[in-house]
Amino acid sequence: MWSLPDIKFLNDRAAANAASLKREAKRKRKPKCEHWNCKSKATRSYLTFDIFSADPKGILHLCEAHDGNSGNPTEGYFTCAHCERVVVENHTWEYYRIELDGETVCLNCAAEKHFGAPENWLDPRAVKEVILAPEETEFFDAASGVLNVAKCRHVLAVKQPVPVGVRFVDNAEFDSGTGQQISGDRLLDIIHRLDRPFIPVLDAAYQFAVSIGIYVRTESAADLKEAA
Ligand SMILES: [Zn+2]
Ligand SMILES: [Zn+2]
Repeated sequence: MWSLPDIKFLNDRAAANAASLKREAKRKRKPKCEHWNCKSKATRSYLTFDIFSADPKGILHLCEAHDGNSGNPTEGYFTCAHCERVVVENHTWEYYRIELDGETVCLNCAAEKHFGAPENWLDPRAVKEVILAPEETEFFDAASGVLNVAKCRHVLAVKQPVPVGVRFVDNAEFDSGTGQQISGDRLLDIIHRLDRPFIPVLDAAYQFAVSIGIYVRTESAADLKEAA
C-alpha cells in the first residue's frame, strides 16, 4: 500500500531547490527526452508542481514528439487550465485534478473557485436531512432541505492547504463501496451545531473510503486566534 510521502519534507526540499530548478528549466542545452526509451534530445523543459506548496517540485524534459503526445504534457501529469502549471496527477491513489465547469483544474484552483463562489455556501438551518445517494443528481434541494453528500466536490486532498479565509470544522468518513459511515459524528448534527454558512466537500479520497469535511469561513477574531 502506498502512503502519502512526508509533505513537509517535500515542501522544504522544493523550497531549497526552487531556484536551481528554475535555472535548469531555462537552460538552452537540454538533456535527453524523459519519455520511455526516447533517444532524442529534449526541446522543452517543464517545471512540475503538486498541490501542497507553490514551489516547483521537479522538472520534465521532453522532445518535440513526446511533448503532449501522451498526456498534457505527458503521462502522470496534467496542465491546470487555471494556474497553467504542470501538476503531478497523484502521489497516492488520490488524484489532484478535477473537471470544474468544463475545465481540468488542479485541486488548489478548484478549492479557491469552489469556496469563492457565494452560491456554494449553505445555510445550516436550511438542511433538514443528509443523504448519501450517488445515483441522485441533486446536491442540495432547498425545498425539502435534503443535502446529498455523494455530490460533494473533491476540491481538497489529504494534507492540502485550505484556502485562506476558510477553516475545517469536522468530518465524517464513509466506506466508498457501501456508503456506510465508518467514523465521525452524524453530519446533520455537525451541521446543526454551526452558527454560519458552510460548504461540505469531499476532502480525502482513500483507497476504500472518502471523507466529507465541513468547512466555514474564518471571520471572527476568535477563529483567527484558533487558527494561529
Ligand atoms: Zn522523446
Ligand atoms: Zn491550478
